[in-house]
Amino acid sequence: MLSSNYHTHSKFCDGCTEPELVVIKAIELEYKELGFSSHAPYKNDECSIMKIDIVENYFSEINRLKNKYKSDIQILTGLEIDHISGHENYDWFNSPELDYTLGSVHFVYNKTLGHFISIDEKPEKFIKEIENIYDGNVQNLIHDYYHTIREMVLKYAPDILGHMDIIKKFNQKLHFFDEDTTWYKDEIIETLDAIKTSGTIVEINTRGYYRGWTREFYPSNWIIEKCVDLKIPMIINVDAHHPNHLKEGFDCISKVIDYDALKPSLLEYITQRKKEKKR
Ligand SMILES: [Zn+2]
Ligand SMILES: [Zn+2]
Repeated sequence: MLSSNYHTHSKFCDGCTEPELVVIKAIELEYKELGFSSHAPYKNDECSIMKIDIVENYFSEINRLKNKYKSDIQILTGLEIDHISGHENYDWFNSPELDYTLGSVHFVYNKTLGHFISIDEKPEKFIKEIENIYDGNVQNLIHDYYHTIREMVLKYAPDILGHMDIIKKFNQKLHFFDEDTTWYKDEIIETLDAIKTSGTIVEINTRGYYRGWTREFYPSNWIIEKCVDLKIPMIINVDAHHPNHLKEGFDCISKVIDYDALKPSLLEYITQRKKEKKR
């Protein structure tokens, strides 16, 4: 049985409920660890899902819950932090308030045209933006996406990499690229090399699967197998936006992965990493 989740949204960003309701659900499901990961604000606050002026409230609410429920569950403070290539942001990756960092890429920046493309919103908007911002060149978009991930993990070494291949989110619906082509697989292999160097944990994110957007998790099964071969640590996250998501998407996970290949506790892993960095 799974007993942890480190990718959790709440009313502080785009989640549905107060964080306390998620904690109560996690305790009911006998979770041992629960990490909150609100979307970190950007310097351009207009685009932020969680505005900069409520971050302090977020930290203090998670701390309150940590204390209130400490005999039932270990709660961790995290943020889901975006890296946008070439764009300065707050230094959330080094924030002393955080127990862990979850680095994700939701936006790809086309340097030539100076525009962003959001890869995680609506398929209709996405396909239009590939035409407008990438001149229809899917390979260039995908290269820039994975390049941004590589840049993030090598520069900031987040504890966890969020939904590694979310660029495929609309592929089931739109068939906009072939996931079996050599150039795509080469992008993935190069990215796994960077992840291996950084010591970042790859998250197996079940959200696309239980929402019916994708046939496999993020990342796809063959990438999970590669992570096992390369001894890249992995954890399962449900990317919860509602307390009920804590129990979704786990049914077939044991067919995909041997639990022993997963890190049992993020906290143990982070503590170990910090010790190694000090050496
Ligand atoms: Zn995300
Ligand atoms: Zn998320």
